[in-house]
Amino acid sequence: MTDRVIVSATDLVKVYRRGTSEVRAVNGISLQISAGEYVAVMGRSGSGKTTLLDLVGCLLRSTSGELAIDGTSVIGASESSLATLRRERIGFVFQEFNLIPTLNAVENVQLPLRYGPRRPDGRQRAEELLELVGLRDRMRHRPTELSGGEQQRVAIARALINEPALLLADEPTGELDSATSTALLAMISELNMQRGLTVVVVTHDPGVAGSAQRVIRLSDGHVESDVTADDPRFRAVLHGESTEAVGHPGRRLIARFVPRRGRRG
Ligand code: ADP
Ligand code: MG
Repeated sequence: MTDRVIVSATDLVKVYRRGTSEVRAVNGISLQISAGEYVAVMGRSGSGKTTLLDLVGCLLRSTSGELAIDGTSVIGASESSLATLRRERIGFVFQEFNLIPTLNAVENVQLPLRYGPRRPDGRQRAEELLELVGLRDRMRHRPTELSGGEQQRVAIARALINEPALLLADEPTGELDSATSTALLAMISELNMQRGLTVVVVTHDPGVAGSAQRVIRLSDGHVESDVTADDPRFRAVLHGESTEAVGHPGRRLIARFVPRRGRRG
């Protein structure tokens, strides 16, 4: 890990207005993510995970606060410079694979190149990335001829075509069975370790988050806990337990007998 800071957020706020009511989906989040980190973002449904990821990915503009991506402040940046930043520095993977059904795998992977400067080696790079994600034999297949897990691999290769500094994935295994999810996450983890890719994954699956080196748990739009894997609270945060309980047997006992509300989300 280097000291290069890829994400730097300070007091980030996003308020959605619906008629007369306001939702503070992200309510004052400050965090830094350095190059090479693998971070899982967890929290109940509605806790602000997607909003945070979309802010970091410059798909949304914040209501207030500071945000810099790879050293570039995005607050007040023009639409066109945000588009360039997204294209050059950020790769996105969503729960739905969002592939173009009429294009085959290698064409789908090349798609983001259409919006940037011409790269004569585009096709070759797309093929290399498909090999990297284990789809050497599926390059000419269209999405309908691929399984869910294979489609998500194509989406990951597409996210990597512009060599981003940051890979953002919002519940990437949400539509996959558990064996496929495990394989996909192992692949993302390998990309992080072998290529030093900075990864932020939103998930509600402790099995998924357990392969990350850091877990950030959100609650009502703020950071409830932010722990690295070497922290004794890591497992508790992973499983959504109150970290205050760690080291306080009385509270831990209470936590065991008082049923919690649903944790998924
Ligand atoms: P999560 O991904 O953790 O489920 P979200 O970031 O999607 O949470 O949502 C956080 C809160 O913001 C929720 O209360 C949600 O209803 C609200 N919200 C999300 N998107 C919008 C939107 N486009 N307009 C209004 N409210 C929204
Ligand atoms: Mg979400």
